[in-house]
Amino acid sequence: MPHIFDAAPIPALQISGSEDTIPVRRILCVGRNYAAHAREMGKDPDRDPPFFFAKPADALVGDGETVAYPPETENLHHEAELVIVIGTGGAKIAEANALSHIWGYAVGNDLTRRDLQLAARDKGRPWDMGKGFDRSAPIAPAHSAASVSHPYTGKIALTVNGETRQEADLSELIWSVPEIVSILSHSITLAPGDLIMTGTPAGVGPLVPGDICTVSIEGLGDLTTTIGARV
Ligand code: MN
Repeated sequence: MPHIFDAAPIPALQISGSEDTIPVRRILCVGRNYAAHAREMGKDPDRDPPFFFAKPADALVGDGETVAYPPETENLHHEAELVIVIGTGGAKIAEANALSHIWGYAVGNDLTRRDLQLAARDKGRPWDMGKGFDRSAPIAPAHSAASVSHPYTGKIALTVNGETRQEADLSELIWSVPEIVSILSHSITLAPGDLIMTGTPAGVGPLVPGDICTVSIEGLGDLTTTIGARV
């Protein structure tokens, strides 16, 4: 049967050093996954099971792009994050097999309308409007695990206009990459093109129009985003 509208294009994540792209299926995100960030958000950094939220796949923004300051917020925040690219789908994936489901990794920025997120959190409402707004997922070109191995350690940092705001090490993740993949796959069936943003370290803070925000992860390069005028 024909569609009554043209189908939306499939969002494509660039691959570093290649003309090929990754067709993005979903953007899944881990809440609080670094102890110091959990504390700065007023929560205990315990080993309660991780929780997940999502952004629409078409929130994807490439490296070097401008993101207009989004509507309905006075407190847009940056969040530097390691992004997992799922290459082989599966459900109930054992932690010991998790790495075989990962195609590679990328540098991401979980842009957040913090005022909307916290208002929703405090009322027990969903986070979607705080987290899943238009163009809320800048992600740099991905690297295959075959080319960079699996990054368990290495510096993750974020600067705004050249000033360091976030700096930590991937080894500080409360829930490791294999644990995240395994736990999430027990809740939903993962598929190729699913991206998982793994949580942000301490130091989240505001962005304003004109800011240039750069996330870097050792071995995975940089992601630069300019914040444009309010829409
Ligand atoms: Mn985040």
